[in-house]
Amino acid sequence: SAVAPQSPVIQHQQLLKDVFGYDSYRDGQQTVIEHTLAGNDSLVLMPTGGGKSLCYQIPALAMPGTCVVVSPLISLMKDQVDALQAAGVRAEYLTSAQSPEQTQQLFRALHDGHIKLLYVAPERLMQLAFIERLHHIPINLFAIDEAHCVSHWGHDFRQDYRLLGNLKRQFPGVPITALTATADLATRHDIIAQLGLDDPYVFKGSFDRPNIRYNVLQKYKPFEQLKGFVQQQEGSGIVYCNSRAKVDDVAAKLAAAGFNAAGYHAGLESEIRDVIQQGFLTDRYDIIVATVAFGMGINKSDVRYVVHYDLPRSVESYYQETGRAGRDGMPAEALLLFDEKDVSRIQQWIANGDNSDRQDVELQKFAAMEAFADAQTCRRQILLNYFSQFSANHCGNCDICLDPPKRFDGSVEAQKILSCVYRVGQQSTPQHVVDVLRGKQHKRIVEQGHQQLTTHGIGKDQSEGYWHNLIFQLIHQGLLRIDITQNGVLKLTEGARAVLKGEQPLTLAVPRLTLNRGKAAKAT
Ligand code: ADP
Ligand code: ZN
Repeated sequence: SAVAPQSPVIQHQQLLKDVFGYDSYRDGQQTVIEHTLAGNDSLVLMPTGGGKSLCYQIPALAMPGTCVVVSPLISLMKDQVDALQAAGVRAEYLTSAQSPEQTQQLFRALHDGHIKLLYVAPERLMQLAFIERLHHIPINLFAIDEAHCVSHWGHDFRQDYRLLGNLKRQFPGVPITALTATADLATRHDIIAQLGLDDPYVFKGSFDRPNIRYNVLQKYKPFEQLKGFVQQQEGSGIVYCNSRAKVDDVAAKLAAAGFNAAGYHAGLESEIRDVIQQGFLTDRYDIIVATVAFGMGINKSDVRYVVHYDLPRSVESYYQETGRAGRDGMPAEALLLFDEKDVSRIQQWIANGDNSDRQDVELQKFAAMEAFADAQTCRRQILLNYFSQFSANHCGNCDICLDPPKRFDGSVEAQKILSCVYRVGQQSTPQHVVDVLRGKQHKRIVEQGHQQLTTHGIGKDQSEGYWHNLIFQLIHQGLLRIDITQNGVLKLTEGARAVLKGEQPLTLAVPRLTLNRGKAAKAT
C-alpha cells in the first residue's frame, strides 16, 4: 500500500522506539537531533547520564552514511559498541591496538556502507592515511565525545584532541556534534573555537544533581575526619587525593583500620589497575582511594559518596568528580576537606607551571573553587551559577542549607589565638598553636618551654577542631597568614594588632566540626 513519505521527525522518533526502545526523548535530545539532521554543528552540554549518546546515534542512523565518533577511552568505546550491536546496529571501533588485517576488514565494511557508527580514538582518526581513506567514505556526522578535552581551559586537556581542530577544514560539509558533561563559559567558548564549529546550536541541560548532598569541612586531621565520615556511610565510595604518594598512604591506613579499601593511580601497572577497577565494580572493594586518573569511564551507578581529601583545581573537576556519586538517583554525599595550605600550594603550582599563557585563566578557575569551599551560602547555588544555570533558591540539601552558619562575637577567642601565635614567636604551625592553647604537655611543647606561656591551656574548654576552625577563619579574615616558605608556621598580619588590642570587634562563625545530618536544620 502506498504510504506518504515520512517526515524526518517521525523517522527519528521511530528509531528512538524501534532501535532503542524508548517512548520519548529526554530534555534536549530532540532539538539537538533536529539541528543535526538539518546539517548544523552543535555543542551539547549535559550532565553525566543525561543521554548525550542518543544525540548523535539517532542522526547517525537517520542519515545515509557513517557517523565517526571520537572517544578518549577504549573501555568507553567498547561499552558503547557492545550496546549498539546488541540493539542490532552496525557499530565498530578502531584503536591503535587492532591488527592490520582487522583494520583492512573494517575498511572494506566501511566502503561497502555496512557500518553506521565507527568509534575511533582521536590520535587514530587524525593519522593522515586514515583521513585520506575517510574521504572516500560518505561520512554523515562527526561526534566528539568528552569535547572539553580539546580545551586547555577544561580540566582534562588531551594533546590528541587538539588535532581535531583540523576536522572542520578537512570535511567542511560534515556536521560536528561536540558533547561534554562539564564546561564552564570559558571552556565552552574554547571548544567552539578549537573545533571550528560553525555557528553551532548550543544545548545546555540542567546541571543540577539534586540527590548529591554537598558538604565541606575544614581539614585539620584529614585521616581522622575521613575515617569518621566513612564510618557513617553505607555502600561504596571514592576518595580523591592529589598525589600518588598520598593515595598509597591513605589507602594503606584505611585498610589497616579495617576498611575494604584499595588505592588506584596511574603509577600502578595496568593489570593491577584493571583488577582494582573490576573489584570496585563488583563490590569487592568498598572504597577506592585514587588520583583523578580514576573515574572517567567507570560505569558504577551506585557510588554512594565521593570525598575530596585535597582541594581540586577547578569547579569543573570538582563537579565532574562528585558527579560520579549517585548516578542511580539515590541519595549520595560529596565531602570536601578544605585546607588553607592546599590553597597556597596549588596557587604556587599554577604560578610555577610551564603554561604561562594560561596562568590567569587557571588562577581564576582556582579562585572560583576556593570561593566555593569557603562559601557561607548554599553550595549548590554556587555550583549551578558557575555553570550559568542561575538559581535564586537555596537547595535544602547541602551543609550550609542544613546547618546554616551562626555568628558570634569572636573578639575574645581571636585574642587568645593571636596572642598565642605572638608568644610562640610566630614560629609554630597551627597544630602546635592549638596544642599550646589546649594545654598539651608533649615533648615539643616542653622542649620549647611553651608550657610556661600565659596562653598555655587557655583554650582547654574547646576541642581541637574548634581551634583549628577559628584559626582558619582568622586566616580568611586576614589576621593571620600561613608562611609556606617556613613549614607552614603562623604569622600575624598588620590587621591583627587592632583585634589584639581590643580596638576592633570581630564576628566569627560558630565552627561546624561534623556534618549535621539535617534534623535540626529542618526546624528552622
Ligand atoms: P551520557 O553519555 O550523557 O552520560 P548516556 O547517553 O550514556 O548518557 O545515557 C544515560 C542512560 O540514559 C543510558 O542508559 C541511556 O540508555 C538512557 N537514555 C538516554 N536517552 C533516553 C531516553 N530518551 N529515554 C530513556 N532512557 C534514555
Ligand atoms: Zn544548599
